[in-house]
Amino acid sequence: MENIVVTGIRGLPLIRAGDNIPAMICERVKVENGDILSLASTVYSKAKGFTKSLAEITPSKRALRLAELNREDPSFVQAVLDASQDIIMEHPFILSELPFGHIGVRAGVDQSNIDDGMVIFLPPDPMHAAAQLREEIRQLTGKKIGVIITDTCGRSFRRGQTGHAIGWSGFTAIRDFRGDVDLFGHELKITEEAVVDEIAGFANFVMGESNNGVPAVLFRNCQPWTGHDDLYFSKTEDITRKLLKECCPS
Ligand code: GDP
Ligand code: MN
Ligand code: MN
Repeated sequence: MENIVVTGIRGLPLIRAGDNIPAMICERVKVENGDILSLASTVYSKAKGFTKSLAEITPSKRALRLAELNREDPSFVQAVLDASQDIIMEHPFILSELPFGHIGVRAGVDQSNIDDGMVIFLPPDPMHAAAQLREEIRQLTGKKIGVIITDTCGRSFRRGQTGHAIGWSGFTAIRDFRGDVDLFGHELKITEEAVVDEIAGFANFVMGESNNGVPAVLFRNCQPWTGHDDLYFSKTEDITRKLLKECCPS
């Protein structure tokens, strides 16, 4: 895994609905077989029109109650509720599960890097988004690359947000070390490495959060790995989710 080259893709304009992101990226960078492209969900959603004006949203009773409780804008809270499949915690912020399996604060709905009064939703099917971007780039360049759609997310137990993968294509999410032996010959029984999140984390570092204007990052020379795609815990496995649901009835 030596000599990985990481390139932030500069010079992309402000993305608007209808923009062809794969074409815009391929105009600015030459991709090679095996490259991994990380793309901020924000720009994917803006290009596909997964955005809304808060003025168009009518808050429900629940949104009004949660807006009061968490001191947030009722229309924004309604956008969060609309994006959520299951509310896990209501206060001090909404933590919810999205239909595609991701659990996130405020359902990943963003008000930054878009016009005033607008919100950006996470793509409703980020796995499909990643697969489609990969295929479009293959058609444009003839190169087979991997794609990760990222979002900046908070974490349990630690302060600070990091990049997480919400969609990927071209490799497995997890690199499975179970069955390998360590330097001392001990068999590894538990270790599954969430490689897509590690790459998303570094991509997020290159992107920055505010006005850097770098929504895409290219990784070259990552060696392939094998594993599986069960990145999300099942409901029965997920202890944190179970405990939060028990202690925070909504
Ligand atoms: P998120 O992590 O997907 O929620 O996206 P962020 O709002 O944190 O943005 C990630 C990176 O993309 C930052 O460098 C932003 O400045 C940049 N970015 C966001 N929107 C645009 C855009 O429309 N055009 C360009 N060129 N960069 C953008
Ligand atoms: Mn975001
Ligand atoms: Mn971000």
